[in-house]
Amino acid sequence: MSDRIALITGANQGVGKQVAKELAEHGVTVLVGSRDLRRGEDAAAEIGAGARAVRIDVTDHASIAAAAVFVETEFGRLDLLVNNAGISNTGGGDATPEERAARSRASTASLDEIRAVWDVNVFGVLAVYQAMLPLLRKGVDARIVNVSSGVGSLTTNADPSYPYHAMFGPVYPASKAAENAMTLAMMVELESTDIRINLVSPAYTSTALNNFSGTESIEDGSREVVRVALLGPDGPTGTFTRWEDAAIPW
Ligand code: NAP
Repeated sequence: MSDRIALITGANQGVGKQVAKELAEHGVTVLVGSRDLRRGEDAAAEIGAGARAVRIDVTDHASIAAAAVFVETEFGRLDLLVNNAGISNTGGGDATPEERAARSRASTASLDEIRAVWDVNVFGVLAVYQAMLPLLRKGVDARIVNVSSGVGSLTTNADPSYPYHAMFGPVYPASKAAENAMTLAMMVELESTDIRINLVSPAYTSTALNNFSGTESIEDGSREVVRVALLGPDGPTGTFTRWEDAAIPW
């Protein structure tokens, strides 16, 4: 892994930062993507050798383009892209996932909030893919890891007996279903290349995304993302998994 160049979006905290830390420990040069450069620099300093901050706001085309120029200028290629940046809502506050679900039903959800969440989780992932693909084409054993969620599985959520069936709504869960669909579109496009792509769900992890209500530690919750990000050239493409290598229906 020692020559690999990786970019992780939203790596200044949470799952992204943990993945950055563990990749750096494996000798990967990690570009710690952060929409606030200062926070990215703090995270990179904490991670230590092998980590460098890069400003990237996945909703801001200029910042994505500037990040691509930075990678091109510094390294001339990208071997691993981890599309990790994500938000669950725009409301802030201390609402539990259940309370948030109650006001995020198809009939009640704010369209402004849906657009804002989809802007990051869906169009942001696609925009970064489009900007970084030329660099991945020049990469060695290039791989893309899209960090999605089991809550976006249409198959699972369509089952009325699924415990979280009632929580499927248009803001976050549907954004993750749409991210999965975008990933499928990328997979189809990449079939004619040697670039691999995988979809991964962290566990229900204690992070800012869920007001730290997640039941798993950052280390345990991030494991599957790290495992897949470290897959070598013989590793699979086109999988959607949670720890450990458990397939999630799309
Ligand atoms: P987190 O701690 O809130 O981290 C999210 C990261 O995304 C932060 O670094 C955040 O930056 C960044 N981000 C938000 N908007 C952005 C934008 N416009 N441009 C660039 N970066 C942006 O949450 P997390 O739990 O680690 O989430 C990471 C990923 O895991 C997400 O895709 C999430 O959907 C997924 N996931 C999480 C869980 C879970 O239980 N935690 C479960 C399944 C899937 P700021 O610090 O500037 O806000």
